[in-house]
Amino acid sequence: SIDTHYRGRFAPSPTGPLHFGSLVAAVGSYADAKFHGGKWLVRIEDVDLPRRVPGAAKQILDTLEKLGMEWDEEIIYQSRRSEAYREALDVLDKQGLLYPCTCSRKEIADSSITGLYGFIYPGTCLNNPVSLQSAHALRIQTHDDIIQFTDGLKGLYTQKLHSEVGDFVLRRADGIYAYQLAVVVDDAAQNITHVVRGADLIDSTPRQIFLQQLLRYPVPQYMHLPVVTNAAGEKLSKQTNAAPVNTAEALKELVDALHFLGQQPPLEILEGDIASFWDWVMQNWRVNRIPNGVV
Ligand code: GLU
Ligand code: ZN
Repeated sequence: SIDTHYRGRFAPSPTGPLHFGSLVAAVGSYADAKFHGGKWLVRIEDVDLPRRVPGAAKQILDTLEKLGMEWDEEIIYQSRRSEAYREALDVLDKQGLLYPCTCSRKEIADSSITGLYGFIYPGTCLNNPVSLQSAHALRIQTHDDIIQFTDGLKGLYTQKLHSEVGDFVLRRADGIYAYQLAVVVDDAAQNITHVVRGADLIDSTPRQIFLQQLLRYPVPQYMHLPVVTNAAGEKLSKQTNAAPVNTAEALKELVDALHFLGQQPPLEILEGDIASFWDWVMQNWRVNRIPNGVV
């Protein structure tokens, strides 16, 4: 159905070229936005400057263009958004929710229990406040009210942040703003109504909704797509040496991504071109065909 207010996005981290796993997120978010007559925005998530690979952002954007995926508005680069992140952090600080943390990785590992999503920080520096003089991260105090949302594919998802995730970092000791904060500030700044991304991020969504509530931002709709894994069952990523999308075989790559998302294009789609591929997707995208893989 047409929803002219639909604003979706694709938010790659420029740590390497686009691989098949990120292509699936790009295709899924683009198809869903365009099927609904909405807009599709691109944001380069280079907030973690030390992890940025020079040239990777441009390479990703070139690949999207070659695949016929056109973004509707100016691209946002997180590396230029520190001011906005600082303002959001101020708002949270005024609510008395932030505290400095000087724990090292090792101290955290030694003092925390491990939950489903990693170490659950035990609140050491909340209970024994540390001096602001030393280099410190900033954490936010969480609570145990249930945070829930209805995922477009997986249905109801709930978390209790305090006991399942713990107080989490919004700014690292090296001054870098955390993904959880940056993504929330930018989704709001870009008026994103629909977030379509990989299911590896579903357990971050309650943290993001928690921040949206505190910052009085609207909460978008979320849909988490199945994650592409390699033969060893690992998520495709730079770390697992995922091959870059081959733009010389653009149509084939797109069709493979569409198949991965459970869509059933006719065989002849490979005889057409990229424009006819996207025409077919605009007419035939069906969310209920996407395999609702277990996270
Ligand atoms: N930048 C994140 C990544 O590439 C995606 C963030 C998001 O879609 O919210 O994994
Ligand atoms: Zn600490």
